[in-house]
Order: sequence, then structure tokens, then C-alpha cells
Amino acid sequence: MEAKLGVIDPNSLSIRAFGRFSEMGFSLSDDMLGTFVPILVYWFYSGIYVLLGGLENYRLHTKQDEDIKNLVSRKAVVKGVLLQQFFQAVVSIILFTVTGNDNEASTVSNPSFLVLASQFLTGMLVIDTWQYFMHRYMHHNKFLYKHIHSQHHRLVVPYAFGALYNHPLEGLLLDTVGGALSFLISGMSPRTAIYFFSFATIKTVDDHCGLWLPGNLFHVFFRNNTAYHDVHHQLYGNKYNFSQPFFVMWDRILGTYMPYTLEKRVGGGFEARPTQDYDSIKSD
Ligand SMILES: [Zn+2]
Ligand SMILES: [Zn+2]
Repeated sequence: MEAKLGVIDPNSLSIRAFGRFSEMGFSLSDDMLGTFVPILVYWFYSGIYVLLGGLENYRLHTKQDEDIKNLVSRKAVVKGVLLQQFFQAVVSIILFTVTGNDNEASTVSNPSFLVLASQFLTGMLVIDTWQYFMHRYMHHNKFLYKHIHSQHHRLVVPYAFGALYNHPLEGLLLDTVGGALSFLISGMSPRTAIYFFSFATIKTVDDHCGLWLPGNLFHVFFRNNTAYHDVHHQLYGNKYNFSQPFFVMWDRILGTYMPYTLEKRVGGGFEARPTQDYDSIKSD
């Protein structure tokens, strides 16, 4: 008996297996990657923050407050996010299928940096505009707040993997529809969309991470950041800082911007504090 294993090249095996996989229609298209990469990115990036969560000197709230103030368990949050991501994946595959008529052409051509930058910027502005008005309306309409958006606000002390802890309908209305609009209006290719939606996912996770770490580039480049969104999650900040996830533009224009300072917290860490009496700020 010959040792047949010696002549089998594991690489060619896996290539053949992948080929077979592709023939069966299971190749990883940009549409599929655009759907699933952001989900993997979400858990990977928030996983890093879970590991860093013990850095008391950089937290915006104590670990103890996280346990006391939050109205939902971590386990329920994980389940809620997974459910949400499942719904979003289904809808996004349908959307990509319906809208993706020239995928092949768009993946072959290489758009210039200027085109990519303008598509990213357009996508960011579209998502921001859509989410500001939907988000603000969800706070304004008591029925929608009570039955849908209040789920996200069970996290008074946000943490990274709670970023997408939303009612499935909210995920659909704010994230999926907002994402679809930004994709369609910006004219980005499904390949660009993989990067764009991964970036938007990282930004949203970062806004909920609850840590003010030195050197965080999101804190340097965006005024809409972890501290800004933390204010919105506080009971006093509920009618302010609706803008998400990129710019503070709409809050500024429509008078819902809450100015705050970041101060050292007693016992270590930081705290976002409003700089003026919040009741005197105009709100809806
Ligand atoms: Zn809210
Ligand atoms: Zn939030």
C-alpha cells in the first residue's frame, strides 16, 4: 500500500473545494461581503473594547454604574444584536440583489481616490441626515419611543457591543434603510460598500465604547464621538445630541446640540458634563 496522503497537495485541495463551492453558486461576491464583513467587524472591534473595558482610568462611567444603571443584561444584548444582524443581513441581501445590476463592471473598474472620497462623504451625509430625523422623531413620538427606541436607551451606560442593541424595526428603519439610501445616492460600488459599511460599523461601535482612550482618531477627527453620544444616553441628555453617527451638523442647525465638557471623574476616568443648564436649551 502506498502512502497516498504524501501526494495530495492541501492547497490544490482547498482551491478545488472552493471551485466546487463557486460552481454551486456560493462564491463570495461583493454583495455577500458587503453584508457579512460589517457583522464580523462589529464583533471583532467590540471584542477589542471588551478586553480594554477594565481600564478604569479611561472609562466615562464606572463598571459598577454599568451594572446598576443599565436596564438589560449583557446576554440579552448579545441576543438582541444577533437577531438584529440576522434581519439586516436578509434585507441587505435582498437589496443588493434588487439594485445590483452592474456589479461586475463596478468591481473591475478602479475608481479614483477623489471619486471614492466623494462617495464616502455623500454616504456619510445621507446616513447622518436620515438618522437624525428618524432618531429625533423616535424621541418625539411617545408611542415610537415607548415601543421601539427605548430599547436602545436601556443602555444608560453604553458599551461597545451594545451599539446595535435596537428593536429590529429600528434597525430596519434607521440602519438598513439609511444604509440603502447612502449606497444608492452615493453611487458607490458593492466593493466600496464593503469598506463604507465596515467603517460606519466601527464608528458606531466606537461611539458606544464608553472609553476615552488617548490617541483615538475618532475623538480627534469627529466632534460626534464617544462622549457626545454618551450625553445622549444619559437621562438629562435624552432630548439632545440626536446626530449620529458622523457629524454634529444637524444638532447644530436645529438647536439640539448640548455643549459639554469632559472632566476628570472622582476615582479615575472621565465624565461628560453639560456646560449649561440643559433645561434652558431649546428642544422639541
Ligand atoms: Zn435616542
Ligand atoms: Zn446609542
